[in-house]
Amino acid sequence: MTDEERREQIMRFIYTLRSRGVTDPVLLRAFEKIDRGLFVTGFFADRAYEDTPLPIACGQTISQPSVVALMTEALEVTPRDKVLEVGTGSGYQAAILSQLARRVYTVERHRTLIAEARAVFERLDLHNITAMAGDGSFGLPDQAPFDRIIVTAAAEDPPGPLLAQLRVGGIMVVPVGLQDSVQSLIKVRKLENGYDYEELRDVRFVPLLEGMAKD
Ligand code: SAH
Repeated sequence: MTDEERREQIMRFIYTLRSRGVTDPVLLRAFEKIDRGLFVTGFFADRAYEDTPLPIACGQTISQPSVVALMTEALEVTPRDKVLEVGTGSGYQAAILSQLARRVYTVERHRTLIAEARAVFERLDLHNITAMAGDGSFGLPDQAPFDRIIVTAAAEDPPGPLLAQLRVGGIMVVPVGLQDSVQSLIKVRKLENGYDYEELRDVRFVPLLEGMAKD
């Protein structure tokens, strides 16, 4: 693909997102700047600019762009925020967040995916992302509390350690439900004395699994 073809594809991609209800200009600028084509390699590379989830390495998926948009909007990120993402996958969601937040920590249980994501962050000069291999269900106690937490794999319940690492007034977005069934995208706000839960819509994510993967 020539540079010009790529630019045209990206413009069409932005148009698709707009037509699916993404209106925030700051978010649209992030989608324009962060080229999804760099996060999808191999067989499906030529479908990177479609609004569809696609397979990536290690049997995982890069999320559907309009779902990335919805989750990012729900997170209400401000430029002061320190954000934790659980489930780096391709790194695309983290890269979008890096345009809106002060600092992004992202954790992934597949080392291969972390290595690939780091290479793309480097290539895009995204220096406010720290990508780490680990079981993200336990969060990153050393960096807590976080202003925002986004989980991009489906949990049976919002993980307790993550709720504990959210600051009061902070927001967490997490798909909740069993694998192979309909999951609900939940927005949790941490209050002084409890949590406020809001159900956003039905979604489908790969499951949040325990421990490190072998690859
Ligand atoms: N946010 C990604 C899509 C994530 S797919 C993107 O933008 O491309 C979900 C990812 O969560 C998978 O890569 C999977 O390996 C990872 N994952 C599942 N359970 C995990 C856990 N406990 N800790 C860290 N990562 C996990």
